[in-house]
Amino acid sequence: MKYMEQRQQIVDFGKKLITEKLTTGTGGNISIFIREDNVMLISPSGIPYNETKPEDIVVLDLEGNIVEGTRKPSSEYHMHCIFYQKTEHINSVVHTHSDYATAVACLLQDIEPLHYIIGSVGDRVRCCEYKTFGTQELADEAYRVMGNNNGILLGNHGALAVGANCEEAFSVAKDIEFLAKLKIRAEAIGKPALLNSEQMEVVVEKFGTYGQQ
Ligand SMILES: [Zn+2]
Repeated sequence: MKYMEQRQQIVDFGKKLITEKLTTGTGGNISIFIREDNVMLISPSGIPYNETKPEDIVVLDLEGNIVEGTRKPSSEYHMHCIFYQKTEHINSVVHTHSDYATAVACLLQDIEPLHYIIGSVGDRVRCCEYKTFGTQELADEAYRVMGNNNGILLGNHGALAVGANCEEAFSVAKDIEFLAKLKIRAEAIGKPALLNSEQMEVVVEKFGTYGQQ
């Protein structure tokens, strides 16, 4: 079987989605792009993360056709494909339904720069409009709102993180959840003092994230 290392990574990070409380049940999905072969590996649909094996990972081309695998690919494969089709630096996408990020996404609010960790995501965590799950429309909207950043909220749905590899995308997904939790907790007791644009310029430069293309 090809791509054993990447298959195992998707299995391992899938388990981490559960243990790090970034999703429950079969919610969310993870993919890795194999740039030299122009194919992506994605978690299967409807199989619990704790039961997913390397052979369950589905290999797709960028039109969404199954190249290898007997399982059904995650229904959100469009939202993964589009970043591999249209960028040259993104090689992994992690989608979660983590509690706090999803709560903010249900308000259709952005996460403002209230803590310097936001620099790992970009200038702010924008929230895209609600679109039906599993559609090209959602993929297009997510891509449009992502811009040069590494993560967004999906309106009334969850969070989406991208990175040069799976570790990076997963780490951004964790940071988005942390920031959403801070926003909710801070706003419960007052109005957070936001970092201004000069402070944010320094932060994003230190993180080396913004405008990396
Ligand atoms: Zn979802």
